[in-house]
Amino acid sequence: MSGAERARALEVLRRLDVAMPGARIELDFTSDLQLMVAVILSAQSTDKGVNRATPGLFAAFPDAPALAGAEPEQLWPHIRTLGLFRNKARAIGAAARRIVEVHGGVVPRTRDELEALPGVGQKSAGVILLQQGVEAAFPVDTHVGRLSRRLGFTRQLAPGKVEAELRQLFPVELWATGHQLLVWHGRRCCTARAPACERCPVAELCPKRGVKRAAGQGGRGAMARR
Ligand code: SF4
Repeated sequence: MSGAERARALEVLRRLDVAMPGARIELDFTSDLQLMVAVILSAQSTDKGVNRATPGLFAAFPDAPALAGAEPEQLWPHIRTLGLFRNKARAIGAAARRIVEVHGGVVPRTRDELEALPGVGQKSAGVILLQQGVEAAFPVDTHVGRLSRRLGFTRQLAPGKVEAELRQLFPVELWATGHQLLVWHGRRCCTARAPACERCPVAELCPKRGVKRAAGQGGRGAMARR
């Protein structure tokens, strides 16, 4: 990527930061375990929906041993408003059991160990690592991927390849902020179905200004390891 393109990309983040100061993760949590559970639950669900479900779930199952000892069906009443809740209940229980059996009840803090937890893939591990503050990452969810392509940061489709190019494009100190700003912009303005280019703070820097959603573009995939 040329110096001019890199400068444009940096200016995009700068303007998004001005437009959305304080962009942050919108899941509610007070511990690494709650963070991991909330991230697993957020697959194909809104953060608001997850935040409505988790207080009851966390009250009923306050630690890893409690979750590890629960049958998936015991989690259902708390999370049945969320998509794929049966799969998520199974994943949460399995992840909790591994945390108890392998990690002494403490959520691990390395990428390899996190990605070995059921229900936690590359993107989810990156989100957890960012919040733990132990490892830099530029997690690529559906918003980050879509916006990175619209804004000309990458042409890649695979999240891992998109993240690799974003890591090349931006200095490491901007990865966490960049991730969060793209997520917020994707939710609030540059949505998959109706990008609001007319009120977009980076429209004059965007090669896809005025884009309309192409059929089949921008939807969420089925729940997999995220
Ligand atoms: S100009 Fe339109 S396509 Fe480009 S980032 Fe803004 S909302 Fe998205």
